[in-house]
This record gives sequence, structure tokens and C-alpha cells, in this order.
Amino acid sequence: MPKLTVKNPIVEMDGDEMTRIMWQMVKDKLLLPYLDLNVEYYDLGLAKRDETDDQVTIDAGRAIMKHQVGVKCATITPDAERVDEWGLKQQWKSPNGTIRAMLDGTVFRCPIIAKNIVPAVRNWHRPIVIGRHAYGDIYKGVELRIGGAGKVELVYTPEAGATQQVTVHEFQGPGVVLGYHNLDSSITSFARACFTYALDRHINMMFSTKDTISKTYHAQFKVLFQEVFDREYKDRFEQAGLTYMYTLIDDAVARIMKTEGGILWACRNYDGDVMSDMVASAFGSLAMMTSDLISPHGYFEFEAAHGTVRRHYYQHLKGEPTSTNSMALIFAWTGGLKKRADLDGTPEVGEFARKLERAAIETIESGVMTKDLIPFADPRPATHVMTEEFIDAVRANLDQKL
Ligand code: NAP
Ligand code: MG
Repeated sequence: MPKLTVKNPIVEMDGDEMTRIMWQMVKDKLLLPYLDLNVEYYDLGLAKRDETDDQVTIDAGRAIMKHQVGVKCATITPDAERVDEWGLKQQWKSPNGTIRAMLDGTVFRCPIIAKNIVPAVRNWHRPIVIGRHAYGDIYKGVELRIGGAGKVELVYTPEAGATQQVTVHEFQGPGVVLGYHNLDSSITSFARACFTYALDRHINMMFSTKDTISKTYHAQFKVLFQEVFDREYKDRFEQAGLTYMYTLIDDAVARIMKTEGGILWACRNYDGDVMSDMVASAFGSLAMMTSDLISPHGYFEFEAAHGTVRRHYYQHLKGEPTSTNSMALIFAWTGGLKKRADLDGTPEVGEFARKLERAAIETIESGVMTKDLIPFADPRPATHVMTEEFIDAVRANLDQKL
């Protein structure tokens, strides 16, 4: 079969540790034999970020703004321990945070469902999609360690008009303080991205936050969501027979346990970070969840929701085979390919990506799976496969489909 041509560039962002190993395998075995891939490559591995003073991350973000479509491998966000381990110049910021701040937009995390993987919550029959705001809050926060007694104030100095000032706390002893922000414009585009996604996928939508406690900050999200909904989406939701509701996050957590799925749960940045890990784990494994960034400016970035799977990487370094699940990395690539196909008007590329997704899911459904899925599998296979064996099995399935 001649290779399919991917017309315009995909921005490829390489990553770290076990996911870097699997990223290469996915490319070599599942993509390059079938596609003339037109990639613009950025190495976001920690060594390169350190070497370039993180310029490579900014370059990658700019490249997505130029070419519209990026696919990203998981990367290390260094903590103090990593600074020592890697001998870093400094504790670089999260590349995801940097790129999201550049692109703005919303991250949608959606479980990958296979028939024989039974969710921990028995009534979750359909995907629960988390819409995570990708701008601001603690991810763009500033913090201070307070050494001892003293007053901390929040001061707003407008370009015109009177200064506003509130006391955060009168410290009697040491402590900590954090300041963060968000923008009406970003919250509004977050709301639009979510309503559009729910309509697109034909699913109901819920938004939650803690406006009972945070009567200005959190409440502003609630107010803007309702305004955008009433003005731009209410009629279309009604016509489609879909619902939107706001509820307190405590109530949302209770409701989500009782739902049968098929819902978009819009969450603020931190809530979405944590809740998507919970939802993914309950659906079988962190590796069974995709993470797609949709920016209001027409940029798209696709990645796995999980990290670099450090523990498996150390095992790999010792020469021991691992059983690491590559599903979310495969789906990051297929997400990018499908979007490229839509933008380029190359349906054959989109069709290839869909066949690859089906081949991967059917591999699991035939009982061939990595170790993380075994406890959730019904029927439970006698044994699990190793990292590379799984990818090879997907390839064999894909070859049959092509
Ligand atoms: P992780 O990579 O998400 O893995 C946590 C645990 O979840 C693993 O130890 C493994 O459990 C299981 N797991 C996750 N992905 C798996 C997969 N594909 N196949 C099988 N099991 C999987 O988190 P971490 O190891 O704590 O973090 C490593 C690094 O990732 C950190 O430096 C962090 O900064 C970074 N990170 C990056 C991103 C990103 O780039 N998007 C996101 C989160 C974290 P078992 O060990 O029990 O098998
Ligand atoms: Mg997380």
C-alpha cells in the first residue's frame, strides 16, 4: 500500500522517560510505515529544555500557533528532587502550563472505552468528559513564603481611578501566601468551548465551582457561564434536547457518582486537573484517557492525560521489560491526524486514524492488554502483554484493517 500524505505540518513535541520510549515505538511501528508524516519536531525532553533555557517550549507553542495542530508526549515538570537528579539550571515551569498559557483554551479529557474494561463505578456506561479550563488560577499564581509577623495586602492600582486594597492576613508568625488571577475573556472562551463541545458530541453539560465560599472569584465563573449560555447556546441546547446546569462542586461530585455517563463536566483549572485523574483511574487506567486542548483561536493540541510513568522507566533502565500502556499516546497521534485531516481536507488521513483507534481498542477487547488494565477486565485474561508486544498486536490488527 502506498503511504498516505499528511499535507500540512503537525507540531511534534517529544517528551521524557517511559513515554519518550513509547512515543518512538508508536511512531516507528504504527505511523511511519503508513504515512508520509510532515512533522515539525521539538524536543521538550528535560535535557533540551534545560539546555535552551526553556526556549524550546516557547518555540513549540509558537509553532502550534502557526500550524494549528500539535501532538505532545508527556514531560517532566521538575520538582526540587528533579533539579538534583538532572543537575538543572533551575526548576523549569511545567511545559504544559507554558503552552496552555500561550494558546489559551480548554482541555477536554475523555476516557477511552473498551467493552471488556469495566469501570470502578458500575453505573458509568458512557464517557464522562472533563472540560478543564487551561488558563490561570494556581497555574499562573505567585507565592510568597512569609518569614514572620507582618501584614500581607492585595493592592489593585488601576490605570485610571482609585487604588483598591484588602488585607489578606495580619501574620503573627511564619506562613505562606498565594495570589492568582483569571480573566473575563478567558472564562468566556472557556464557557464557549465547553458549550460547543457538548453540542458537538450531543451530551449534557454541568459546570461546578465553589461560589458559596468564593463569592467574587468563583462566582464570576458561574455568572459568565450563565450569561454565555443564555445569550448564545440556550436555544440550540433546547433544540438538541440537551441540558446545562450549574451546581456547587460538592454536589457535582455526588452527582457524578450516580450518573450513567455521557456528560461533559466543566471544571476550573485545578478541579479539572484532579477530577480527570480520578475519572480516568475509575475507567480503568490513567492510560485510558485522552487530553485535547481546544483554543478559541483555532489551535489544537493532543496529548495523554498521564505523566512520564517514572517508576516503569527506572525498571526499563535496569533492563527489565515493562508492561506500560500506550493507548493515550496512540490516541494523541490519532487526535492530531484527524484534526489535520479536517483542516487539510484529506479524509483518507482521518480514515487511517480512525482505523488505528479501532485496531487499538479491538486489541484490548480481544483480551490482549497491559498489566494496568487486568484488574478491570471482564473476562480477565490469563496474562498481560509487555509494552512493545501490545504495540505489535495493535499493528497486526491495523494491517488487517488496511
Ligand atoms: P504518571 O506518569 O501519571 O504515573 C503514575 C502511575 O500511574 C504510574 O506509576 C503507573 O502506576 C500508572 N500509569 C500512568 N500511566 C500509565 C501507563 N501509560 N501505563 C501503565 N501505567 C500507567 O505520574 P508520575 O510517574 O507520578 O509522574 C512522572 C512525571 O510525569 C512527573 O515528573 C510529572 O511532572 C510528569 N507529568 C507530566 C504530565 C504531562 O506531561 N502531561 C502529566 C502528569 C505528570 P504503577 O506504577 O502502579 O504501575
Ligand atoms: Mg493531573
